[in-house]
Amino acid sequence: MESGCIKYKSMSKPGTESEVIYEGIPASPGIAIAPVHVIARGFSAPEVYQIEESEVAREQERFRQAIEITKRQLLELQSRLEDLSGENESGIFEAHVMMIEDRAVVGRVLTAIENRLQNAEYAFYAVMQNFLEAMRRIPDPYLRERTADIEDVAQRVLRNFSPDSEARHQVPDDRHILVAYDLAPSDTASMNRRHVLGLATEQGSVNSHTAILARAFGVPAVVGLEGAVIEVLALAPAILDGYSGKLILHPTPETLERYRKLSDEKAKVRSELEAKRGAATETIDGRAITVSANIEIVEELPLVKRSGAKGIGLYRTEFLLLNNGEEMPDENQQTECYARVAREMAPHSVIIRTLDAGGDKLPVEPLTEPEPNPFLGWRGIRVSLARPAMFREQIRAILRASAFGKVAMMFPMISGLSEVWRSKEMVRRCMDELEKEGIAFDPNVPVGVMIEVPAAALCADMLAPEVDFFSIGTNDLIQYTVAVDRVNPHVADLYRPTHPAVIRLIKRTIDAATDNGIWTGICGEMAGDIRLTPLLIGLGVEELSVGPQQVSGVGQAIRSLSHAECAAMSDEALRHTRSQGILDLSLSLARKHYGELLD
Ligand code: PEP
Ligand code: MG
Repeated sequence: MESGCIKYKSMSKPGTESEVIYEGIPASPGIAIAPVHVIARGFSAPEVYQIEESEVAREQERFRQAIEITKRQLLELQSRLEDLSGENESGIFEAHVMMIEDRAVVGRVLTAIENRLQNAEYAFYAVMQNFLEAMRRIPDPYLRERTADIEDVAQRVLRNFSPDSEARHQVPDDRHILVAYDLAPSDTASMNRRHVLGLATEQGSVNSHTAILARAFGVPAVVGLEGAVIEVLALAPAILDGYSGKLILHPTPETLERYRKLSDEKAKVRSELEAKRGAATETIDGRAITVSANIEIVEELPLVKRSGAKGIGLYRTEFLLLNNGEEMPDENQQTECYARVAREMAPHSVIIRTLDAGGDKLPVEPLTEPEPNPFLGWRGIRVSLARPAMFREQIRAILRASAFGKVAMMFPMISGLSEVWRSKEMVRRCMDELEKEGIAFDPNVPVGVMIEVPAAALCADMLAPEVDFFSIGTNDLIQYTVAVDRVNPHVADLYRPTHPAVIRLIKRTIDAATDNGIWTGICGEMAGDIRLTPLLIGLGVEELSVGPQQVSGVGQAIRSLSHAECAAMSDEALRHTRSQGILDLSLSLARKHYGELLD
């Protein structure tokens, strides 16, 4: 997989912009055709709209006025500060004034208004955004620090555009492809999905939580598009190809036609799959594999129900932090939420994972100092065990929800036995309390652990007698096994789900589970990759929990395969020395039995 971004141009018809193709990493399949909207780091985007040539002079004047007003305000601030604290402190504003009067910046904005035919505030924003991005990429801490000052002044200028700058056409309210440097999972979860048709980011990777959410919502996404924020012009017509990882600006009529056709073909395959939604997921030689769904927020429930998933294999409860700051909602609120999921999914089961904050996800009561290695630090069960009051509330809420449907619970980031014992001890304590309080719950709630730290996979035989099931979190298991940050595009090509070490750990986990009479599922992104379904079935997995949009494809893949054939292939895969060879083995069965489903 290519980690860098390749950009190439092909000439379009004279008089039109040339087509520019950026190549990144495909992170969520699908095709979006819409204008782009670029959001910059540090300050918020103003409205953007096209202007007539006859309006250029007026827009340039509006820009000059905004600069004048800002200058007056800064000088006023400077003199007030001088009165209070003497000259030294006020020097900062002088620097700010110099910044906005910088001839290079002013000249570029005036030219941008004329060339781009876009409103003054947006032209200013785009010029400043490029300038700031360029500064952020210089490895000089002093310059990087100064970006905050520049953002401040730029924000002030943006506020000072005259009142007649009222938006005539606000892109974020229309359907668009969002281009950003990076997006936090919270940005993705809260985006307006009716308007955002696609996501294109410079940072991120296939296994970041942002990409996982994009796939859950069925929004095409491409990550690792180096330089896109600086170079892409807002409102440019574009195509986002989430299958091959391309962002195409100013597509030629031929390219557009090709993509419209591809989009229709994909829609046809999707509707054929939908017709089989909810059908049993059994291999042709009779091995049943449960296909369930992963969810982050309850808003995904309708998607899950429509998908035909037989339950929820992973409910990432840390996303409850989205609307609650840095604290989990209280016990009653959590109970209400979990009970709703349990009720709506009944008679199928819902596996509720206790809080896995930290890493690239939402922080819970963050530590006072930033962590040097967040993925190796304060996350998962470590946070819960160190915050017994919070942990207790969550366990009680999960138990209380078990009275309303079929609920299981599991613990994330388990690295050894003592964490399992301590967690189970908390479950026992909460059960005793609820019993004494006369509050209903299911005393046989299954308790499982995630196998996502290599130590847990290696000690799976010790953990298995203690729990009711294993759920392999391949996203983290891969990152920790091959020491590759799951969200870093620079090392994305080293992030290989079929690395022999990963396959061996999965096999070891499943064998330990089988020896102890418990089942193993996979809830990492690997479970939804239908190129790998033959391999995972062959290794002996019994449940695949995937994004709601992947349920029907994975179900159809299972129905097309023979377990015996997959097992023979995976035996061979376990002897293979190279990731690509293992992938090819699995892919050859996938091609043979359901080639039409592959991207
Ligand atoms: C995983 O690590 O594979 C997993 C499912 O957990 P998360 O992606 O939430 O870390
Ligand atoms: Mg994980």
